[in-house]
Amino acid sequence: MKKAAAIASILLLISLSLQEISHGSSASSLTGGNQDSEGSAAARTLNQEQDQEHAHEVHCSRERSRAAWEVIEEYLMPFVEREDYQISSKCRLHPDNDLFRDQEQHKIHVDINEWKCGYCKKSFRAEKFLDQHFDNRHYNLLNISHGKCLADLCGALHCDTMMNTKSRKTKCNPAAAARNHHLCESLADSCFPVHQGPSASHLHDLFLRQFCDAQTCSGKQKPFPKGGRKKTSVFYLAISILTLMLLPIFYLVVYLHQSETRKKTQELRRISKIGQKAKPS
Ligand SMILES: [Zn+2]
Repeated sequence: MKKAAAIASILLLISLSLQEISHGSSASSLTGGNQDSEGSAAARTLNQEQDQEHAHEVHCSRERSRAAWEVIEEYLMPFVEREDYQISSKCRLHPDNDLFRDQEQHKIHVDINEWKCGYCKKSFRAEKFLDQHFDNRHYNLLNISHGKCLADLCGALHCDTMMNTKSRKTKCNPAAAARNHHLCESLADSCFPVHQGPSASHLHDLFLRQFCDAQTCSGKQKPFPKGGRKKTSVFYLAISILTLMLLPIFYLVVYLHQSETRKKTQELRRISKIGQKAKPS
């Protein structure tokens, strides 16, 4: 009985602490926008419908631009930061040369199923609806000028690897590979001019290894051989905290179990002794 009560209380403790963790992580987002999300749900769908009418065309893929940005952030910026190098605005990898950068920075991810527009604070169920909203409502904020489409650099930056869209069966096109290799080298030259000093020259070399070497049809070289940003993900953090919390509880359960069985065996021994004493008489 005692053991059952102890285990029950332990389980209660675990569930309470788990709730605490989940509340802690989402507390900021909950206070942020959940109250109005239900009320504005109807208005939201209505607005989405209205937005459809104002479709505006921009000849640059937002999705691929985002993939290119992710590639740069993950596989280039760690090295640029380590060298403490300032990329010039003439380089097409500079944030100013990403058509969508300002809009992407105005995305507020409130909750798993809630995205907010940073310009007008409207809420959406998924990122793609917010993308549509940007395209329709805030297209005037896009700085549409030549050479600002990051998606155009996807060939050089291996966006397909990032997006996992390239099927392995597609045949490598030598002409396309050569074109991408040329684009890649020109990026290295414009972003990291060798004459600018040791950092630039070092990064120029790294850029060629990291991005350009794999632009062949031989298939020998893989993109990003130098690796990327080391992520300390929230997931691993949560797992380690949980383990640290559960370990003492586990030992407590084991301890309680052992002491209980010890008591029982002592009791059994006592009963059997009484029995033995009782028998002869
Ligand atoms: Zn908006």
